Amino acid sequence: MTLTGLITRYVRKNWRPYFLAALMLASVSALTVFIPRHVGRIVDGLSAGRLDGIALIGQLGWLMLAGILIYFLRVAWRLQLFAASYRLGAELRTRLYARLCLQGPHFFHQRGTGDLMALATNDIDAVEMASGEAMLAGFDGTLTLIMVVAMMTLGIDWRLALAALLPFPFMAFAFWRISSHIHQASRDSLERFGKLNDHVQETLSGVRTLRALGLEARSAARLAELAESAASASLRAQRWEAAFEPAVGITLVSATVLTLALGGTLVWQGVLTIGALTAFSMYLGQLIWPMFAAGWVLSLMERGRAAWGRLQPTLDTALSIDDNGTRAERPVGAFRLEGVSFSYPGHQALALAGIDVHLLPGHTLGVVGPTGSGKSTLLRLILRQYAVNEGRIAWGAHALTDYTMDTLRQAISWVPQEPFLFSASVAENIGLARENATLAEIENAAALACIDQDIARMPQGYDTPVGEKGVSLSGGQRQRVAIARALLAQASLLLLDDALSAVDTQTETSILQHLQELRKASRDQTTVIVSHRLSAVMDAEHILVLKEGRIVEQGDHASLIALGGWYAAQWRYQQLQASLDAD
Ligand code: ADP
Repeated sequence: MTLTGLITRYVRKNWRPYFLAALMLASVSALTVFIPRHVGRIVDGLSAGRLDGIALIGQLGWLMLAGILIYFLRVAWRLQLFAASYRLGAELRTRLYARLCLQGPHFFHQRGTGDLMALATNDIDAVEMASGEAMLAGFDGTLTLIMVVAMMTLGIDWRLALAALLPFPFMAFAFWRISSHIHQASRDSLERFGKLNDHVQETLSGVRTLRALGLEARSAARLAELAESAASASLRAQRWEAAFEPAVGITLVSATVLTLALGGTLVWQGVLTIGALTAFSMYLGQLIWPMFAAGWVLSLMERGRAAWGRLQPTLDTALSIDDNGTRAERPVGAFRLEGVSFSYPGHQALALAGIDVHLLPGHTLGVVGPTGSGKSTLLRLILRQYAVNEGRIAWGAHALTDYTMDTLRQAISWVPQEPFLFSASVAENIGLARENATLAEIENAAALACIDQDIARMPQGYDTPVGEKGVSLSGGQRQRVAIARALLAQASLLLLDDALSAVDTQTETSILQHLQELRKASRDQTTVIVSHRLSAVMDAEHILVLKEGRIVEQGDHASLIALGGWYAAQWRYQQLQASLDAD
């Protein structure tokens, strides 16, 4: 869809405010062209000695009234029209946001956060301006132009009108050249602003790393370069926009010269009255607005078009995962992976190959293996962040893809190694998992995740703000807050992705014990624990050892120890390490 297509569709759908605004604009134009004609009559009346003092005041009263009416109508149509265009902006932002929320991690690997933020702000602003300001200026300008030209031609003298309009085609040509430059410059400017935003966002997120590596100066230099480049593109667009004004000026001066030359002759010949010539010059002055409007519309439309050219592909980017499932009931039964193989989009190497897993409801699966063996990838497939290449993942009687994403999100809780905390209180951060959770439920979840005592020691307890603007929590505390959040959700499937890595072994043991008690109580929470530390999985019913994307060993703790492979060696090593640490 083109920008014009988008705006047309929107105007058609919301025709009422646009129609009202157009109606008021038409009245404004009619009143505007009434003024010079009226002034012309006054001038002729005065020069013929037909107007006395009282009559003059009466005539001037009409002029004032027209002026006041114009004022109120202008305020009213602006309100109508801008309300409509702001709504389009809001609609586009909602669409963009909804789209971004559905995209998988692959999309965000490719697109910078700062650039996406620029799309949601700057680019949508530009489209909004095109659908509001440009529409109104275009309509108003065209209407005024038609009326003024009609008044000049039919109301005064067509020969004079022809002469006066002679320079206008040259102006149209100049406008056309200028607007194509504006398009290019706006596109550059929006793109460069996106890059600048990306850099600022990355720098702020990674400021500690930058400092630690002593890269501040380099980053600042890069920022200066990007800011300079964005500014120069904006300036280039501005410079071209500035060229509209002189073009209008030259046209107007030439038109005035032609008018006075021919008009003067006509007055001498007695064909035209002085009043008519006055009115004509005033009409010429009224053409300034349509001309400026044309320039303004062209530049707004070019800016809007450049922005829409960036926005539309993002809105249309295929979702990395399609949400075509229809089942909305909570999944029950065993969780199975059958011959699952997977490679990341754009990569040849298999991140997982031939994975078979059968996980009974209420059981715990441990997944261990060296770094890069595919443990996190396995969880990403269960979360449907990516689609499997081969094989099938099923939950109970149905494939995972049969369920709606929404259902799966509610049925599965996931705790990553580095969980994200929002700028809100501890209670709110835990409570996110379930709408309307009571404080008692939040406290209970916190106790299960062994974070309750830490919270009690915080300055404002559960109301203590955390996240970017609040108290800084240790890695282990963050992980436990995230676990409390996940437990509150009471999902059927709990995925822990090395979620206890920053918690000390003793606390880890108590959390795992709590999990086990919970499972005994409710029987149906199935858990997958990915861990570097084998102590986190030793009590699991089944343990997989992955290596280079394949299952190389599996069984329970005792059988894996007896097998004497990677697991047994790793276990001995970690036990030794633990006893050394204890000393
Ligand atoms: P683990 O969790 O066991 O450390 P991962 O599941 O993260 O391992 O990684 C498995 C393999 O997939 C590794 O070879 C890794 O390089 C690769 N990989 C992980 N994430 C991506 C990604 N986003 N794009 C491409 N390859 C990836």
